[in-house]
Amino acid sequence: MTQQDFDAKHLWHPYTNVAKPGPTHLVTSANGVHLTLEDGTKMIDAMSSWWSAIHGYGQPSIIQAVKDQADRMPHVMFGGLTHDPAISLGQKLLAITPPSMQRIFYSDSGSVAVEVAMKMAVQYQHAFGYPDKTQFVTVRSGYHGDTWKAMSVCDPVTGMHHVFQNALSVQHFAPKPPICITDEWSEDPAKNGLSDLHQLLESHHQTIAALILEPVVQGAGGMYFYHPEYLNQARAICDAFSVLLIFDEIATGFGRTGKMFATELTTIEPDILCLGKALTGGTMSFAATLTSDKVATSIGNGNPGVFMHGPTFMANPLACAAACASLDLLKTTSWQANVDAIATQLNHELAPLRSLPHVFDVRVLGAIGVIEMDHQVSADQAHPLSKKLGVWLRPFGRHIYCMPPFTISPDELSQVTNAMGKLAEVL
Ligand SMILES: *Cc1c(COP(=O)(O)O)cnc(C)c1O
Repeated sequence: MTQQDFDAKHLWHPYTNVAKPGPTHLVTSANGVHLTLEDGTKMIDAMSSWWSAIHGYGQPSIIQAVKDQADRMPHVMFGGLTHDPAISLGQKLLAITPPSMQRIFYSDSGSVAVEVAMKMAVQYQHAFGYPDKTQFVTVRSGYHGDTWKAMSVCDPVTGMHHVFQNALSVQHFAPKPPICITDEWSEDPAKNGLSDLHQLLESHHQTIAALILEPVVQGAGGMYFYHPEYLNQARAICDAFSVLLIFDEIATGFGRTGKMFATELTTIEPDILCLGKALTGGTMSFAATLTSDKVATSIGNGNPGVFMHGPTFMANPLACAAACASLDLLKTTSWQANVDAIATQLNHELAPLRSLPHVFDVRVLGAIGVIEMDHQVSADQAHPLSKKLGVWLRPFGRHIYCMPPFTISPDELSQVTNAMGKLAEVL
């Protein structure tokens, strides 16, 4: 049995059918923007390992930080103990996140960071004497993770969790924000989607703890970029109904949109902020949920006071060290100029693909390039082509997209857009 036969027979992969395992490439190493396969083939990773490897692979400073930390202390429990990597990371995060974010909860993955955020919102409301405020509002076409509560606020159709629909907590869905970022904002609440949101909150605010949104960029739920003004006005609606605002920046955080955080595209701040994916520069799984002093101390002054969550590997020192090194790179490299240049080139090279048959839309924001087809595309069908073209692309839904490392060169990015065009022709 080859290694890959064993894999196909015994290992689950994300969102796959074990009875009909899809094709997999055996990757032996990753360096710069390249993945190297067992047979020596090199592919540009246009996915940045699900949007996380923003600096590419094998950044010496990140690898060294992890090695040094492994020598000193790979892990200790965070209950009653603390350590420099956690403290340094906290200092670095507070320096770049919105100023009202003052209290940090570290966890293992994005989905857990969302669970933590939702629990914070419920405990906050409870502390204020609103034990009935336990439900959530969100918009259609969103994605917030795969755990139970996170699933309940994913789009019921595109959010990949419809099988569980009857088992999930009932939440409230407003339509997806109708005005996209490149269109002109309309103050007409019937046109800009805010009357729907207002109505939902007006009718249900007694039972609603928070509104949870991916600011500006909806990722795995639909690869859609909506107008930041929606968020400015949503903030005011939340305040009017004593509902907290949670921003899930797990996909958008750390430069992907051209801003350090998508929140910076707005004029407001959330009450709770979720970070993950690129936090460790794609090195390992790690996440953080940040909140304001007000939310944190309200929970603390309420009953039971303690916040009821505490992962075994909370604040894992290896992950904190990787995250510190990644944030240092964001400080010392010209990531913003790189992302702006990537956006310009993506716009230029993807625009002509609009005229291909079956292409429904082409859109770009920061280092995100999307071709939306008029039909569902198959990742398995794209798989062998990807290898042939030397570019790792994994389309989903109707979307052929790229989120390359910020370190990609113009020539390599042209290879990516060329491969996207080829896929759009045949899928
Ligand atoms: C990926 C993602 C999550 C889930 O993160 P995991 O680390 O996969 O659990 C949550 N929210 C958003 C917006 C994401 O893109």
